[in-house]
Amino acid sequence: MDAPSCKYVFVTGGVSSSLGKGIISASLAKLLQARGLRVTIQKLDPYINVDPGTLNPYEHGECYVTDDGAETDLDLGHYERFLNIPTSQANNVTTGRIYLDVIMRERQGAYLGKTVQVIPHITDEIKRRITLLGNTGNYDIVITEIGGTVGDIESLPYIEAVRQMKYELGNSNCIVIHLTLVPFLKSARELKTKPTQHSVKELLEEGVQPDVLVCRTEYPLSQEVRRKVAQFCNVAPEAVIESIDADSIYRVPLLMSKENLDRIVLARLQLEGVREPDLASWVRFLEKLQNPSHSVRIGLVGKYVELPDAYKSIRESFIHAGAANDCHVEVVSIHSEHLHAGNVAQQLGSLDGILVAPGFGPRGVEGKIAAIQYAREQQVPFFGICLGLQCAAVEFARNVLGLTDAHSTEMNPDTPHPVIDMMEEQKQIVAKGGTMRLGAFECLLEKGSKVFEAYGSERIRERHRHRYEFNNRYLSAFEQAGMKASGINPETGLVEVMELTDHPWFVGVQFHPELKSTVDNPHPLFIRFVRTAIARRSMQHAGVTPSVSGSALRMPVS
Ligand code: GLN
Repeated sequence: MDAPSCKYVFVTGGVSSSLGKGIISASLAKLLQARGLRVTIQKLDPYINVDPGTLNPYEHGECYVTDDGAETDLDLGHYERFLNIPTSQANNVTTGRIYLDVIMRERQGAYLGKTVQVIPHITDEIKRRITLLGNTGNYDIVITEIGGTVGDIESLPYIEAVRQMKYELGNSNCIVIHLTLVPFLKSARELKTKPTQHSVKELLEEGVQPDVLVCRTEYPLSQEVRRKVAQFCNVAPEAVIESIDADSIYRVPLLMSKENLDRIVLARLQLEGVREPDLASWVRFLEKLQNPSHSVRIGLVGKYVELPDAYKSIRESFIHAGAANDCHVEVVSIHSEHLHAGNVAQQLGSLDGILVAPGFGPRGVEGKIAAIQYAREQQVPFFGICLGLQCAAVEFARNVLGLTDAHSTEMNPDTPHPVIDMMEEQKQIVAKGGTMRLGAFECLLEKGSKVFEAYGSERIRERHRHRYEFNNRYLSAFEQAGMKASGINPETGLVEVMELTDHPWFVGVQFHPELKSTVDNPHPLFIRFVRTAIARRSMQHAGVTPSVSGSALRMPVS
C-alpha cells in the first residue's frame, strides 16, 4: 500500500459484548474533532445480512437510515449525534455485503482461474472498504469499529485485515484500541484483570498487538491495576485507560479526555502540533442536561418498548431537545399492545405529551390508534412518526370523517377506505432488502403551519424508511375537517406532514426527524413538541384547562 493520506484507528472489543465500542469510538472522534481534525467513524458488522434493514429491532435494535438511503447499524446514530456530520453507506459494512461483492465479482469473471478465498479476497475487500473513506481526502483520521467480540469466528477476517493494515501502513499510521471489561468481584472485593489479559492474548494469537486498552469498569482503576494490565498486555501504563460507568453517554468524551485517550492516540499516530480540544459547547450542553429547570413526562407508545435500543434515536432526540428547553424529559414507555379505548385515560392521563412510534405490521396498531384518539380529543401534545402519522390518519378517518372501516392496506388489504396505501411503484417490488422509500427527500412546508414555525424555513430535507403513504384521494376530506397536509414532497406530491389546526400540537410526519437530531443541532420538531408539553404542564399546575387554540400553549422562543 502507498503512504496513506489519512491515519486509521481500529476499535475492537473483548471479554463481552455491549461494552460500548460505539460510544468510545464516538467519544474519541469528538475529542479529535474538537482539536480541529477531520474525523469519521465506520462500523464493520460481522453478520451475514447485507444490511440490518431486514432485522427485527429485537435482534439488533433500531435500524438507522442515512441521507443516501443506507439502512445501517444504530451506532451510526451515535456517530452523527456526537460529530454532527452525516454518515453514508460507506460508514457501515457487513460481512454479507463484503461476500456479496466478492461473489458477484467472481461470477463476472474478475478472478478467472483463481480460487477465491477468505485470504486474500475477503480480507482485500475489507481493506478496500476501510480505505475507501480514507482515500476520499476528506479525513485526517478514520476510526473503524469492528463489531462483535474478539475470538468470535465471524470476526476473524476483520482482525486479519487489521493485522495486514498495521503491517502495511506501519504502527504510526494504524493503531488498535481494544475495549475490555475489568469486572469487580464482590466476594473478593477486587477488580479482576484476568479476562482482559485473556482477551488481549486472543488478539495476539490473531497477530494483533493492541496499542491502547480501554477498560470498562464500575470502580476506578488503581495505579496497581493499571500497571498489572499494562505489564501483562504489553502496553504502556499510560495507554491503559479507565472507562468508568457514566450517568450519560454524552459525558464519556470528557471522561476520555481526563484519561488522555486523545493525547495517547495522537502520540501513537505521531501527529504533533495538534491544538487542545475546544469542548466549550459540549460542556454547556452537559450543564443544561444536569440542572434542568423544567420537567415533563412524554409517553412513547410503541410495540418494541421492552427494548430501549429499538427507539434509540427518539430517546436521544428527547435528550437533545430537553437540554435545548432547559427541561428534563422523562420518556415513559407504553406498550401499544396493552392499550385500548377502555384504559387510555388511565394509562395516558398523567402525560404531558404523547409520541406514537414508527413500526411495521399490525401488532399493537389498535392501541396506537386509541392513544391518538385520546391525544386528539384531550388536546394532549401529540407527535406521530412514520407509522405514528399513518395511525393518526386512520384514527381521523374513522372517528372524525366517519369512515369506520378505514385502515392502512398494510394492516388490512381489503379495507374499503385505504387512507394509507402503497404507491404503485412499491406494488411491483417483491424483494424485501433495501426496497422501501429510503433516505433523504425534500419537503415543502406550508407557511404559517406549526411545522413551518418550528423549522423556520419552507424547504426541508428529512430521511424516510417506509413503503406506505397517505392516500391523496382522501386529502380534501381531511383538510375540510381540520387535518391539514402542511408538508408536501415537491416532486411527487406525497403528503409528508399532517397537522390539526385546532389543537395545541398535533403533528404527524411521514419521515424520521429523530435521525437528524444531534447534540449541536437538536431537531426543531422535538424542541417544539417538548416546549408545548412544558406549557401544558405549567398550565395544568396553574389549574388552567388546556385551550383549544394553538396559540394558548405557545411559549416564547428562548
Ligand atoms: N409500516 C409503515 C410503512 O412501511 C411505516 C414504517 C415506519 O414506521 N418506519 O409505510
